[in-house]
Amino acid sequence: MNKQLKWERIQGIVLDAVGTLIQPTPSVAEAYTQAAARQGVELDPKEVKGRFNAAFRSDLVEGEAGFLSTDEGVERRRWREIVARVLPEVPDPDRAFDELWDHFGRPDNWRVFPDAAPAVEAIREAGMKVCIGSNFDGRLHKVVAGLPELADAVEVIVVSSEVGYRKPHAAFFGAVCERLGLPADRVLSVGDDLENDVVGAHRAGLSALYLSREGDPAGLPSVPDLTSVAALRAAEA
Ligand SMILES: [Mg+2]
Repeated sequence: MNKQLKWERIQGIVLDAVGTLIQPTPSVAEAYTQAAARQGVELDPKEVKGRFNAAFRSDLVEGEAGFLSTDEGVERRRWREIVARVLPEVPDPDRAFDELWDHFGRPDNWRVFPDAAPAVEAIREAGMKVCIGSNFDGRLHKVVAGLPELADAVEVIVVSSEVGYRKPHAAFFGAVCERLGLPADRVLSVGDDLENDVVGAHRAGLSALYLSREGDPAGLPSVPDLTSVAALRAAEA
């Protein structure tokens, strides 16, 4: 992956949001466990984490245009389904969904990774365009606007619910390139999801770098943090 990366061609970078630039704080498992506790249901956060990962990975809901198609309504239905799967014990599932939807739409429940803003600044100083490209929904605009270190660094946010297709669909990456005003072979995708951010980007004709913040057990080519992306670029320049 990064071995074949031709930096001299790259004029724009699309950064994934969750796991790449920002992370939920408290964790997703903690937030769901607390939502259940508010309804008198005590759950083990480890169990909740396992259920969430399984539910998040299965594509439960899709839009009218088929596989990976989406919009705001589809995303709400998708998350309602995920909450129902993760917390089947709660007496009021609508309340759990409403609370969690609101929770993850608030900037104070997200933390920007410390390497994000310096890396974006270095990339921009190198003359490249930067945007955020995410499978989050319209709530991401408010989340980013409330996180000054990100809001000041990145102006363009491309969200799948507004594009009409989720990553790893090629149409999502097509929309990213359009927003950046660059052809696909001039754009680099960086993110923590191998299928969404790397394989999908490659299929759409972009370059890609896999971000593996916890090291990479599979031995795939990856970068451990966003600072390394900027450093790789500087080393090639
Ligand atoms: Mg991610």
